[in-house]
Amino acid sequence: MRFGLALLAALACATQGRAAEMRVTLLGTGTPTPRLSSFSAATLVEAGSERLVFDLGRGATIRLFQKKIPLGTITAHFLTHLHSDHVVGLPDMWLTGWLGTPYGSRKSPMVIYGPKGTVAMTENLTKAFSEDIRIRIDDEDYPPEGVAFDAHDIEPGLVYERNGVKVTAIEVNHGEKIKPALGYVVEFDGKKVVLSGDTKPDARVEKAAEGADLLIHEVAVIDPELVKTYPAYRAIENHHTAPEDAGRIFAEAKPKLAVYSHIVFASLPPTQDVPEDRLVARTRTTYQGPLVVGHDLMSFVIADKVLAFGPGGEALQPLTGR
Ligand SMILES: [Zn+2]
Ligand SMILES: [Zn+2]
Repeated sequence: MRFGLALLAALACATQGRAAEMRVTLLGTGTPTPRLSSFSAATLVEAGSERLVFDLGRGATIRLFQKKIPLGTITAHFLTHLHSDHVVGLPDMWLTGWLGTPYGSRKSPMVIYGPKGTVAMTENLTKAFSEDIRIRIDDEDYPPEGVAFDAHDIEPGLVYERNGVKVTAIEVNHGEKIKPALGYVVEFDGKKVVLSGDTKPDARVEKAAEGADLLIHEVAVIDPELVKTYPAYRAIENHHTAPEDAGRIFAEAKPKLAVYSHIVFASLPPTQDVPEDRLVARTRTTYQGPLVVGHDLMSFVIADKVLAFGPGGEALQPLTGR
């Protein structure tokens, strides 16, 4: 009996220890480029009993399956903006997460927050997939509540507070015609994770990231040769943050760890993988602190320190400057 109590106490301690941590997993570090190695934007943040996913890019379901996390167990989803590389995974997450399988099993409405247009998108998806929904309810007897949406169009400010986790949306500058575009601040037990979303260099991200444990920032490296052949890349470059500017933001905000995700890397010809050396070298002209160039399935545990792990779970040493 005494042993039983001791065991219970130890288990309670372990659970408490876990509850106080935050864990962040990069589900997709890429962009519209259809690379096998980097799916488009999606980030998982686990804190206490909350499992939050930020953006639903291509392949978010595949990466969650790799992590053995059932799609139906995500407590809330958040969109930074409605560019396709941030939402093409939404119908997959929504419908596949509803299936009565070990990887699905959502029985209550899918909770989703995003800028103006998010509610309309969920209504239009429901129309687009009405035949699948009708067939599966009739034929497989799935609960209709599991395929409903609990969707919210949000403004910058506190948007979610549950089980000790606070999510605040901040407005960012992704260009004049892409409004609103949001970044997010996630806080739990004195810890803070900041996601820049897609943005040009923005002082609001820098301010939000002061004292952050983790700042996940987008970045763009575009080959000048490419701009000559495909002028569209000039506009793309103007919607994002150059490595030197990202480095300036890291140097000012001083997060415990800076991480690149949503890495726009465009070259002629296109490459299958993102060569990191140019990205890192350009960042080092303005920032010497700890930096990780994100790859899909890298993860970060935020406790007293911030620990980084590779896609296979191996410990990872962040890069440091001179
Ligand atoms: Zn975008
Ligand atoms: Zn994007």
